[in-house]
Amino acid sequence: MKKLIFLFIVFTLSLQASIHVLQNALQSPIEKSISYLEDTKGNLTYQQVQKLSFTPYTQERSLNFGFTKLVYWFKIDLQNASSQSDTHWWLKIDYPLLELIDIYLIGPDQRVITCKRMGTSQPFSSREIASHNFISELPLQNIKDATLLIRVKTQSSMQLPLAILSSEQLLEETEQNNLFVGGYYGIFFIVLLYNIVLYIYTRDRDYLRYILFITSFILWQLSFDGLGIKYFWGDDRWLIEHGSSALIAFTAFCALYFSRHFLNTALYAPKIDKAILLVMLISLVMSVASAIFPYGDVIPINAALASFIPIVLLIAGMVVMRHEHRAARFYVAGWSSFLIATVIFAFNKFDLIPTFYGVNHVQQIGSAIEMIFLSLALADRVYLLQREYIGKLNRLNDTLTEKVDHALNEARMKDRLFVQQSRLAAMGEMIEQIAHQWRQPLHTLALINQDMYINHKLGKCDNECFEQSHSRIDEHLQYLSKTIDDFRNFYKTDKSKSLEDLGELAVDALRLSDVFLKYAKIKTELNVSAVNKVNIAKNEMVQVLMNLIKNAHDAIVEQRISNGKVTINVEDAGTGVKISVEDNAGGISPNVMEKIFDIYFTTKDPDKGTGLGLHMSRYIIEESFGGKISVENIPGGARFIIFLIGEEEQALPIHDDSYRRNI
Ligand code: ADP
Repeated sequence: MKKLIFLFIVFTLSLQASIHVLQNALQSPIEKSISYLEDTKGNLTYQQVQKLSFTPYTQERSLNFGFTKLVYWFKIDLQNASSQSDTHWWLKIDYPLLELIDIYLIGPDQRVITCKRMGTSQPFSSREIASHNFISELPLQNIKDATLLIRVKTQSSMQLPLAILSSEQLLEETEQNNLFVGGYYGIFFIVLLYNIVLYIYTRDRDYLRYILFITSFILWQLSFDGLGIKYFWGDDRWLIEHGSSALIAFTAFCALYFSRHFLNTALYAPKIDKAILLVMLISLVMSVASAIFPYGDVIPINAALASFIPIVLLIAGMVVMRHEHRAARFYVAGWSSFLIATVIFAFNKFDLIPTFYGVNHVQQIGSAIEMIFLSLALADRVYLLQREYIGKLNRLNDTLTEKVDHALNEARMKDRLFVQQSRLAAMGEMIEQIAHQWRQPLHTLALINQDMYINHKLGKCDNECFEQSHSRIDEHLQYLSKTIDDFRNFYKTDKSKSLEDLGELAVDALRLSDVFLKYAKIKTELNVSAVNKVNIAKNEMVQVLMNLIKNAHDAIVEQRISNGKVTINVEDAGTGVKISVEDNAGGISPNVMEKIFDIYFTTKDPDKGTGLGLHMSRYIIEESFGGKISVENIPGGARFIIFLIGEEEQALPIHDDSYRRNI
C-alpha cells in the first residue's frame, strides 16, 4: 500500500518526466550508459566522484528517486558517432523544478571541456536558452568520447528526464512543445472565459468557485512546468521556492470547495461531506504552511493530498450520481478522465503499457478534458434551471391567462353594471325632466279645457271656438307624445351599431337636455362640418353627449356663470370624426384632471354627483366604439373631445347647414 501511495505521489508530480534518447548520432540510448552515485554529505567534487564507482541505472524508465534530501551524481558516457563534426549538441532536462544542476563535460584526457550551473536557484536571465526547461549546449564538436557528469540537488522529487539533441531536433521538439502548451493553456483560457461569462449571466456562485478552482489549477500548472518562472514571476525567490507547493495545496482546497457545493454532498452524501470538510481544512492549513516552510518539508504531504483528493471526489461524484443528480454524471466523467490519464501515465512510467505518442502529456490532456466536463456539468445545471424556469413560466402564464380572463370578465360585468346604474340615474333625471316638460303643456291644456267649458256654459263656444280649442289641445297632446317618444327612444336597450351622423345625435342630445339648460339660462351652439358618419350605437352615444352637457351645466351653475354657454363642434379629423363639448365654466382644476375618469370620482355633493358619468362615457367610447375620449382646459372653460373612427366607404356626405345653428 505504501508503495502504491509513493507511486501515486511520484507520478502525480512527474508530469514531464520522460527520456527521449535520440540516438541517430549519439551511440547507445542514454538509459543504458547512465549510472548514478549518492552523495550523502553533498560535499564531493567532480574530481572526487570520478574516482568513485557509480551504480549503473538498470531500469528502462526515466530516472526517478522520489523525494530525497541527498545530492545525486549522474554519469553518462557519450560516444559521438555523428558523421558531421560540426553538429551542435544540446542537453535538455525536462524537469523545471530542480534547484541546482551542475554539469561537467569531461574529455578523454580527463580535461574539463565545459562546466555549467543551472536550476531554479539561478536567475532566469542566466539561462543559456530562455526556456522553461533546462537546456545547455554540449561542445562535442570533433570530440568522439566524453563523459557527462551531472550533479543534482533538489527539494523536489529527484528525477532527471534527460535528452541530448541536435539543434534541429531541439528546434523541432520546442515547436511541438509550444504547440501543445498553446493548445493546453488555450483550452483552459476558453473554459475560464466561458465560466466567467456564465457567472455574469447566471450569478450562480458555483461558477465563482469553479473559476477559483481553474485559476489556481492553471497557476499550479504554470509553476509546475516552469512557464510561471519564464513568463510571470521571473526571479522572485519566494514564488519560486514556495509557489508550486502552496498552489498544489490551494488547488486541492479549491477542488474540494467547488465539489462540495456543486454536488451538495451535505445533502446527498453526509459522511463523505464530513471527510471533504476535513480534507479541505488540511489543504488550507497546508497552503498556508507551504507559504512558510521549505518546499522539501511540505511537498510530500501536498503531493499526497493531490493524489488522494481526485479519488475522494470521484467517489463523492459517484455517490451523488445515485441520487439522480444529473450534472454529477458530467462531474464523474471529468474526474474519471483525469484519473484514467494519471493511471495511463503511471503505467507507462512503470513499463506496464508501451510508450505512445503524447504519453508524456496524457495527464495534462486528462486535466483539460476534466475541466471541459466540469464546465459541461455546470452548463447542464443552467440548462436544467432554464427548463424548470420555462416550465414554471408556462404554468404561470396559464394561470395568468385564466386570471386575466376572469378579471376581464368581472371588469366587463362591472362596467355593464355601471352603464346600467348611470342609465338608471339618468332615467331618474329624465322623469324629472318629463315632469317638468309636461308641467307647462298640461297647465295650458287645463286652461284650454277650462276656457272651452266656460264658453260652452255661457253659450259662447261656437263651432269655430270648438275647432280652435280642439286643434290647440291636439297640438299640445302631440308635443307631450313627442316628449315621451324622445325619452323612450333614448332608453331603448338596443345596442346594435349603425352608421350615424354625429351632428344629428348632437341635436338629439341637446333637445333632451333642453329643459335643464333653459332653466339655467344656458345658451348652446352646435357647429357641424363633418361629412363622415361613424358606426356606433345611437342611444349610447346620445347618453355620452348628455353626460357631457349635464356636466357642463353643473359646472356653469356651480360657478354661477351668468352667460353660461355650451358649444358642440362636430368635424372630420383624419381617419374619423371629432366631436367636442366645451363650456365656459372656468375649467377643471389641474389636481383633479387626472382623476375625473376614475370610477366614483366626483367633486359634487353626494346627492348630485355619482362619479359614474365620465367613467361610463369612457367605457362606451373606448371599449364599445374603439374611439378615444380626452379632456383639456381651454381659456375660460373645459373641452371634452371624442374621436371616433369613420366608416368612410359607407359614409354618405352630409351638407346640411341646418345643424349650424344656435339653440
Ligand atoms: P359626476 O358628474 O357625478 O360628478 P362625472 O364622472 O360625470 O361624475 O364627473 C366627474 C367629475 O369631473 C365631476 O365631479 C367634476 O368635478 C368634473 N367635471 C366633469 N365635467 C366637468 C366640466 N365640464 N367642468 C368642470 N369639472 C367637470
